[in-house]
Amino acid sequence: MNQQETKNAGVTSAEIICVGTELLLGQIVNTNASWLARSLSLLGLHSYYQTVVGDNRQRLAACIRQAAARSDIVILTGGLGPTQDDLTMAVAAQVAGLPLRLHEPSRSAIAGYFERMGRQATDNNWKQAQLPDPCIALPNNNGTAPGAIIAYIQDGHPCHLILLPGPPSEMQLMFDESVVPWISSRTRARLRHVFVRMIGIGESSAETALLDLINQQQNPTLAPYASEGEVVFRITQAVRSEDEEDRTAGLLEAVRQRVGSFIYEVGTRTMPEVLRDLLIERGQTISYAESCTGGLATAQLTDYPDASRVLRGSIVAYDNDVKTRQLGVSTALLQQEGAVSEACALAMARGCRKLFATDWAVAITGIAGPGGGTAQKPVGTVWLAVSGPQGEETQLLQQGRNRARIRKVAALNAHNLVRRQLVR
Ligand code: ATP
Repeated sequence: MNQQETKNAGVTSAEIICVGTELLLGQIVNTNASWLARSLSLLGLHSYYQTVVGDNRQRLAACIRQAAARSDIVILTGGLGPTQDDLTMAVAAQVAGLPLRLHEPSRSAIAGYFERMGRQATDNNWKQAQLPDPCIALPNNNGTAPGAIIAYIQDGHPCHLILLPGPPSEMQLMFDESVVPWISSRTRARLRHVFVRMIGIGESSAETALLDLINQQQNPTLAPYASEGEVVFRITQAVRSEDEEDRTAGLLEAVRQRVGSFIYEVGTRTMPEVLRDLLIERGQTISYAESCTGGLATAQLTDYPDASRVLRGSIVAYDNDVKTRQLGVSTALLQQEGAVSEACALAMARGCRKLFATDWAVAITGIAGPGGGTAQKPVGTVWLAVSGPQGEETQLLQQGRNRARIRKVAALNAHNLVRRQLVR
């Protein structure tokens, strides 16, 4: 098989190799693997293996050979940097039997990058412009190291290695810009996805309510899609071409009939994005008074652009003294009801709305644990309150004992409390 035929071979399976001794030592979390695995599944590719390997020439070469023997595409991340231990490009070229040569467009892109940053390139930076010849060079629009797609024959079978940088921001952009179109033009799988995002219902309750739809549906299919603190289902239709009739709507309607009151988004926006958009549409503002979440709800909102159009400010009112002085929660109320109470949450929301002069204010007060729980108010008890032009509302959350989860779910539900008022 010649090079051209290799390039045109259809692909159905892909596996991921993440390169880096830091990953093996647990110094960094392998978020690239989960992000890539999700992306591959959305593209309709089968993934049967993932590997983490350190910065070692022999072991990396062995991993690549093994992966290429069993999957149509091998995606590698990491080890494209300028330093001595960044070996991925050289090892991949060696496995494919290709020489490394200076790739002029990549060299000039690296030069341009350093010029824009006002920094001086060091000698080893030019190493990143040494790419296997031939290969498809993938531009890095968030950093210096270009990626590469290498096609070669191993034991008579066509193989494709896709090399991406380690830093997630570089890797994700390169994947979306260059790899998705490349894979889409080589796979016969065409999938149409609709994401149904819910809050206020547990995953097992949602699954029970939808079980027959999950089990019976062939095309489109319905499946849970893991997401922390909320429940996401994915409707997927396999199509032969982009203009094939959309059959996802019927299944979506059936899902709505069962669990419609919990759905906050049909699409890809997260809860804070949905809230931001509703507030922008109405030209309204918001502020947060956060105790146990310590600013997490505010941070979730400011993760997204244009948060400044709706968020005026927030206060982390951790200590009771701050609740009293800044938010006007009376000491009598704190003594009688306690800081984790409906009355305190409501007083915090009212005080916050006044302090920041916003249309809406949300308060979060709870016990994230592991200490501080009592029989009446166990760890995981969280009171939320919203105060706004349409009135006030409170909500009690009672969750398990996982501190991180308690805080995340509290923050997501705080946004939701306002969203519910806005869509009423
Ligand atoms: P650079 O050009 O910055 O050196 P690189 O392609 O050589 O990039 P590495 O040196 O392997 O990549 O990793 C750089 C950084 O990217 C790591 O310190 C880490 O922060 C992040 N990173 C690497 N691999 C992963 C991964 N699998 N998951 C999440 N982050 C990763």
